[in-house]
Amino acid sequence: MGSDRSVIVSLRGLSRSFGNVRAVDGVDLDIYQGEFLTLLGPSGSGKTTVLRMIAGFEVPDAGTITLGGVDITSLPAYERDVNTVFQDYALFPHMDVITNIEYGLRVKGIAKNERREQAMVALQQVRLEGYENRKPNQLSGGQRQRVALARALVNRPSVLLLDEPLGALDLKLREQMQIELKELQRQVGITFIFVTHDQEEALTMSDRVAVFDQGKIVQLDKPSAIYENPKNSFVAGFVGISNLISGAAGATLLGKSGTWLVRPEKIEIDSKSARGRSATGTIREVEYLGPATRFLVDLDAGISLMALRQNTSESATSVATMRNSKVTVSWDIESEFQVEK
Ligand code: ATP
Repeated sequence: MGSDRSVIVSLRGLSRSFGNVRAVDGVDLDIYQGEFLTLLGPSGSGKTTVLRMIAGFEVPDAGTITLGGVDITSLPAYERDVNTVFQDYALFPHMDVITNIEYGLRVKGIAKNERREQAMVALQQVRLEGYENRKPNQLSGGQRQRVALARALVNRPSVLLLDEPLGALDLKLREQMQIELKELQRQVGITFIFVTHDQEEALTMSDRVAVFDQGKIVQLDKPSAIYENPKNSFVAGFVGISNLISGAAGATLLGKSGTWLVRPEKIEIDSKSARGRSATGTIREVEYLGPATRFLVDLDAGISLMALRQNTSESATSVATMRNSKVTVSWDIESEFQVEK
């Protein structure tokens, strides 16, 4: 996503308080045409409020929102060229699938034949051909979410807002829907603004991720950059598991001051080859995860580190015997990233 793409949504100084709570605190954000942008953050960090202000369901106390270069800050929700998909689907229970999908077109006064045709295209896009005459209560959760998507897509909005749309699905279905949703977004080319508190979901699907903390964006970057080079200890802690090395013991170990991040998968146990950094310690915990094993190692230097190792030939039984063993952990100096406190 580069500067060659045009900005579709622009937020400037966006703020919203509820009583004493500054839910959104001076957010500046440019979202590009055709981009999949995720607002990621813990519960209460303000991401839903940002989405609701773009949708027009919530009025900002300060700041502006432009859509396609036009200031829409005070435009009512129904006049904005955006659609929202909610976690709870919000389908009409008494209407069948195709009538649900057509609804927006009917409101716009589009003729019956044409709206049926467009609704069938949307139905195909979400892979639900053959389900047009079912009622919502005759569908699974994943299918209902697809209908909700089709109902939004059929309006061909400039921007689709998605508020934790996969939150109600079980893990397996959610993972499948993540792949489908990303494919669909690529196919239709509509800008998606996606809210989630699930870091893995954000990393899998997005072109860029905006990480929220207490109403502010703390980092805006590509998923790989968010993961590999988090700006501060909040992002490092929220996105993936991380080892933060700091303080006097850290300075002795690394020979440099400050807070440094090393991801667990970069740390090797009893490596056969020489690495830039090594330290001795004792394995305190062993956690068998199936494809990989996680080790918690207490270093003699007074720091504990998490190491992750692929189970290429190990079994649950063989890794369990490693608890309490003396080991050497090592990693490359290039795997150390400095983060702000
Ligand atoms: P979640 O993942 O739990 O939805 P979020 O990051 O989307 O969290 P918001 O829903 O934007 O966070 O809420 C931000 C803050 O604003 C929270 O402290 C929340 O309690 C508060 N808040 C949001 N909406 C309202 C409201 N209508 N009235 C009062 N407080 C609100």
